[in-house]
Amino acid sequence: MIRFGPAGIPIQCDGNSTLEGVRCCKELGLDAMEMEFVRGVRLKADAAREIKKTAGELDIMLSSHAPYFINFCSTVRDKINTSKRNIYQAAEITHATGGRITVFHPGYYQKLTKEEAYKTAKKNIKNAWEKIKGRKIKIVLGAETVGKKSQFGGLDEVIRLSQELGYVEPVLDFAHIHARGDISIKGEDEYRKIFERLEKELGDYVNHFHSHFSEIEYGEKGERHHLPLGTKNVPPYKPLLKVLAENGYSGVIISESPKLDIDAQKMKRQYKKMVK
Ligand SMILES: [Zn+2]
Repeated sequence: MIRFGPAGIPIQCDGNSTLEGVRCCKELGLDAMEMEFVRGVRLKADAAREIKKTAGELDIMLSSHAPYFINFCSTVRDKINTSKRNIYQAAEITHATGGRITVFHPGYYQKLTKEEAYKTAKKNIKNAWEKIKGRKIKIVLGAETVGKKSQFGGLDEVIRLSQELGYVEPVLDFAHIHARGDISIKGEDEYRKIFERLEKELGDYVNHFHSHFSEIEYGEKGERHHLPLGTKNVPPYKPLLKVLAENGYSGVIISESPKLDIDAQKMKRQYKKMVK
C-alpha cells in the first residue's frame, strides 16, 4: 500500500492549522500529511496531543520536515548546536503527534571533501541522536536526498548513513535525485534500479519507504524550484507508480509540488488504476 499526502496543510483546505489540515486530508481522500517545520518548530504540546488523536482516528500518517537551519557537516560549534536543537525540537513534537519520521537536509560540503563531510555528518547526527534517545522519543530520522550539488545528501550518502546508523532512513526525493545528477530519471528502468538497490542494501526499507515527489526545474548547480505534475514530466510520476504497483512496495509519497494536495490526489488516482 502506498499512502499519499501533501507537504503541509492542503491548499484546498479552509483552515490553516495542522489539525484542520489532517481533517481536510481525510476529506480529500488522502492518507498522509507532512508537517512543515522548515522555518522553525512552533507547534505546541497541547495541539500535538489533539492532532495525534485525530490523525489516529482518521488514519492519516504523519511525518514532519525539520527546519532548514541544519548543517551536520559544519565544524563550527554554534552551527552544530543549532542543528542539534532544531532536529531535537522537530523530533520531540513529531513524536507527540504520533508521527513516524522527521525529515532533514543533512548539510553542506563547504570546504570539506565528500568523505570528510560524511564523517562529520555521521558524528554530529550520532550526537544529536543521544539526546533524542535519552528522552525516550521514538522517531526515525529521515535523511533526504537533497537537490543542490553543494549539499551533502546524495543517494549513496543517505543509504550509507542508514546502513551505519540504525535510526536513520533515506527520504527519497526523486526530483532532487534527478536535479543533482545522481541518476537521470527517464522512466521505469531508473525507478526499478533505485528500488532494487534499496532492497539489496536496506532490505525491508522498501516496505515502509518515505519519499517526496514533484517535477523540477534545475540547472548546472542542481535544483532551482519545484513544479506541478504535468509541467514537463521531469521526472515522470507515472512510471514510478507503475514500478511501485508491480512490485508491491509500500510507503509514503508526499507531494512537494506547488499544487500540494491536488497533485497528491492525482498520484493516488493514477496509482489506484495501476493496482487494479
Ligand atoms: Zn526537504
